[in-house]
Amino acid sequence: MLTDALKKQIQGAYSQFLENKGLKSRYGQKLMIAEIAKTLGSIELDDENHREIVEGAGGLRTGGHICVVEAGTGTGKTIAYLLPAIVMAKALGKKLVVSTATVALQEQIVNKDLPELHRNSGLSFSFTLAKGRGRYLCLSKLDNVIAEYESGINPTRALYEDEFPSVSAQGIKLYQSMMDALAGNKWTGERDTWPQALEQNEWQIITTDHRQCTGRRCSNVSACSFFKARDSMHSVDCIVTNHDLVLADLALGGGAILPAPEDTIYVFDEGHHLPQKALNHFAHHSRMISTSKWLDQCNKSLGAMLGVISGAGNVDRYGEQLPAALIDCKQRLDQLYPVFEQLAQSIAFDDRQSHYRFNNGVVPQDLLIPCVELYKGFDRLSELLKKMCDELNEAMEDAHCPVPKIDLENHYPILGAWQARADANRDLWASFATPDTPSSVPKARWLTPVDSSGNMDLEVCSSPILAAKTLEYSLWEKACGVVITSATLTALGNFYRFQMRAGTPNDANYKVVPSPFNFQQATLEIPAATVEATNADVHTLAIIDDLPNLIDPNAGTLVLFSSRKQMLDVFEDMPEELREIILLQGDNSKQEMLVQHKKRIDDGQGSVLFGLASFAEGVDLPGKYCTHVIIAKLPFAVPDDPIEAALSEWIEARGGNAFMEITVPDASLKLIQACGRLLRTETDTGKISLLDRRIITKRYGKAILNSLPPFTHIIHK
Ligand code: SF4
Repeated sequence: MLTDALKKQIQGAYSQFLENKGLKSRYGQKLMIAEIAKTLGSIELDDENHREIVEGAGGLRTGGHICVVEAGTGTGKTIAYLLPAIVMAKALGKKLVVSTATVALQEQIVNKDLPELHRNSGLSFSFTLAKGRGRYLCLSKLDNVIAEYESGINPTRALYEDEFPSVSAQGIKLYQSMMDALAGNKWTGERDTWPQALEQNEWQIITTDHRQCTGRRCSNVSACSFFKARDSMHSVDCIVTNHDLVLADLALGGGAILPAPEDTIYVFDEGHHLPQKALNHFAHHSRMISTSKWLDQCNKSLGAMLGVISGAGNVDRYGEQLPAALIDCKQRLDQLYPVFEQLAQSIAFDDRQSHYRFNNGVVPQDLLIPCVELYKGFDRLSELLKKMCDELNEAMEDAHCPVPKIDLENHYPILGAWQARADANRDLWASFATPDTPSSVPKARWLTPVDSSGNMDLEVCSSPILAAKTLEYSLWEKACGVVITSATLTALGNFYRFQMRAGTPNDANYKVVPSPFNFQQATLEIPAATVEATNADVHTLAIIDDLPNLIDPNAGTLVLFSSRKQMLDVFEDMPEELREIILLQGDNSKQEMLVQHKKRIDDGQGSVLFGLASFAEGVDLPGKYCTHVIIAKLPFAVPDDPIEAALSEWIEARGGNAFMEITVPDASLKLIQACGRLLRTETDTGKISLLDRRIITKRYGKAILNSLPPFTHIIHK
């Protein structure tokens, strides 16, 4: 309930924050604070401290606890959600979980926004950063790597190459320095705080996942950086994390890593990424040949493993059954491979299609039985491995166990990694073995040929085509309260696209907060020489002709392409003097390109960035760093994406128009993001040139144009 006292507290904290920071209140920011306070303030708790489902005009309200706010750059939205969410979460006795899509925003919230709010608002709260287990060192693994190297005996590594890649002398130096830093309290064991960037292959040797970690039974648990970080979550009011960790927690049922959804107020910043991230989390894939080889390898190393852990609880009983289970899975995979290979070869692979997709997600009847058998095989394998892990885990507590604890601790992660791989295969084949029901949204199922160390392999993939249902039952229905925000949640001027993909209820509180920017300070221009981007060659030639006239060689320009080929073709044909000031995506990391670009502008030179989709979002080039954004083409999705293709197919099958329902809204949203690169502060000015005449010649183009911010239009006929 949003009582007068709570209202006063929020208003008072906001005024104090502005005063202490010497800032003026912003209309959009105030509006956003009010909407979030109103939504979270409407949450009522029952006797068990759970959110009550309340009556609305049309029956039970399913979205009264959810606030979806689009707030553009310059709104000051971080403070606008932190402030009311902290107050309301504390009033409800719930944890606040603030989740972002990118590390950059996470760091900004933890290192700048929350400390500033804490210092200047008079609010009392505590916060911490929560990262996935994979960002923390596993002390047991570090111990083992160093001990095995120093003793010159590498029995475990030699046997299980897949799970334990070999370590170089250079690597050991690094690991030794990590151990020293930990011992001297100079490092917490968190990957991101190690002074140098760490390569993934260096890091993966010394980190772990939940299947390989022995948890509270581990000899190192009291010094374990992951458990220390996790324990600190229990005592704070606000946890800052990322969408992946929230989704990983929900995939485990919620409350396994983070607080339970029922006890949490979530804020999803960069919320437009959530549906796609959720799709990734609930997708399955596995390579057939490499899995077959791995099963073989497991079987070969099993004897040696059992020789070490024999006698630990009932491990031998299950271990004896493993060879048959491993061989069964391998044989069934090897039998199915040529059939799938033939399917994959039945289509001509070109630039536009790099996979074989099962139409409507339907696996043909004659392939269902082998898929069911594979599912059963991996299910059996996974069960045996789980039982062996449980036996080892139990044995660690057993003072009479004949197997030394060090051997149990060494082999537990190996069996855990095996189980994780068996589970992944089980889930994939379950998806292939279970046809979708007529009333459900079908899954996308497809095969992708891949080059695996010079040999052909087939990746078998399955993914939901919409995350809506999954998010609905795992998140929206369970959470105590939710705020979703981003600069781009609407497409074509409404929230339908987001709702379809994220599954947020119709009766949630949807709001667009007015931008503080005067968009008339920027022009959107369709130059006279612009053609329709329907014929790629003609369009590319037109851009090559026109671009040198459009670019000011003394200013900061961002040119955004939708196709790498077009970007490279255009670059090749640019005049020499222009090529010298162009920074081309792919030549350097994005970060490095941005640093170079800014330096040139700071030095009074001109600079031009040529980039693809990743430059259309999240790139912040205020003021003179970017006064001209050139967009080569309306950003329609690549036709090759199997999930998008399956979604379009499903919409068409239901009598819908996939182009108008999916393709056009997606392009609208991406174009808004691309245009958003120009004005980054209230004083910025500049120009956007769109080199695709379809925006004025096609009916859908006009709809896209009308949904852009109200720039001054200059349209040359
Ligand atoms: S508790 Fe788990 S993550 Fe921590 S050191 Fe032990 S095995 Fe590694």
